[in-house]
Amino acid sequence: MKNTISQQIEIKKASESKIGQVDFENLNFGKIFTDHMFVCDFVNGEWQSPKIVPYGLLTIEPSARVFHYGQAVFEGMKAYKDDNGDTFLFRPDENFKRINKSAERLAIPEFPEEYFFEGLHTLLKLDNEWIKPGYGNSLYIRPFVIATQASVSASEADEYKFMIICSPAQSYYSGDVSVLVAEKFSRSANGGFGYAKAAGNYAGQFYPTKLAKEKGYQQVIWTDANTHEYMEEAGTMNVFFRVNDTLLTAPVSDRILDGVTRKSLIAMAEKEGIKVEVRPVKVSEIVEAAKNGTLKEVFGAGTAAVVSPIKAFGYQGDHYEIEKQEQPYADFFKKALMDIQYNKAEDPFGWRQKV
Ligand SMILES: *Cc1c(COP(=O)(O)O)cnc(C)c1O
Repeated sequence: MKNTISQQIEIKKASESKIGQVDFENLNFGKIFTDHMFVCDFVNGEWQSPKIVPYGLLTIEPSARVFHYGQAVFEGMKAYKDDNGDTFLFRPDENFKRINKSAERLAIPEFPEEYFFEGLHTLLKLDNEWIKPGYGNSLYIRPFVIATQASVSASEADEYKFMIICSPAQSYYSGDVSVLVAEKFSRSANGGFGYAKAAGNYAGQFYPTKLAKEKGYQQVIWTDANTHEYMEEAGTMNVFFRVNDTLLTAPVSDRILDGVTRKSLIAMAEKEGIKVEVRPVKVSEIVEAAKNGTLKEVFGAGTAAVVSPIKAFGYQGDHYEIEKQEQPYADFFKKALMDIQYNKAEDPFGWRQKV
């Protein structure tokens, strides 16, 4: 009889849990990690037996290619707990497909589906205490792959490490943000890998974002690299514009990441009868709408913050404030999505997956 994968996962438990030392009321995003991590190495042309081991340091050659050529991809997803103590994931199949899509573009070998889900479920069961019930509490899950082969030769590696680490998270209201519309810098280009969750896409954003922060903006809205005339997305969020009662968002492309939150909001809007236009969005039409008062809302959509309202944007030296609505779409979407994630509402789309 063939063993199932979960029987194949070698588990080495932490001798002691760190959970007692964690202040769950005051979590800084992404700083604290749970007791265990999932590890699977790719050597000799195949993924080896996966392991779950205590969260801790890695030993990697300084010449490992990830350090020199950035051959690395990742995912971001969350686990939620309802009031009965049941744990849920939200559309995890989308994250699984996307990490392999990102991997393909970075010439990283595909990771097997059974390993991904068995590894994830086993890890979530082991570290289940770390997922706190209550609206807004979650466990942020970070699967990633790095090229570990020791060699500074500039080509794809033949050794990799796939890992999953988990960090308890809280959603807290950090205030609506102001964003700067990119006029010079770009995060991605046609034929590039903007659609991939690849490490280098984020490294390249830090400097322009730092410059934006010096001007008083927290984030950048990237525009198309060719003309800078079209709105694309923010650093780790897709962007929606509400003009009158219609939502506008850019179509995904090889420059824009296909966000799970974005496509979930589009589906919910359509079900709710809110008009959504998925089409190239001109910077000039948004500036015009801001001037004539028809721009009602701008918000980002992504797993970490769910929906993140934007209160103002800067463009060509001008600053445009967006007047707060009484019943923002952003609030409606955030609640509707979280109700599904926390098992507080029906899930007509079949997005929730019990662990
Ligand atoms: C992760 C990410 C998003 C949001 O994707 P979700 O699947 O909704 O979390 C959007 N844009 C970029 C560039 C991202 O990295």
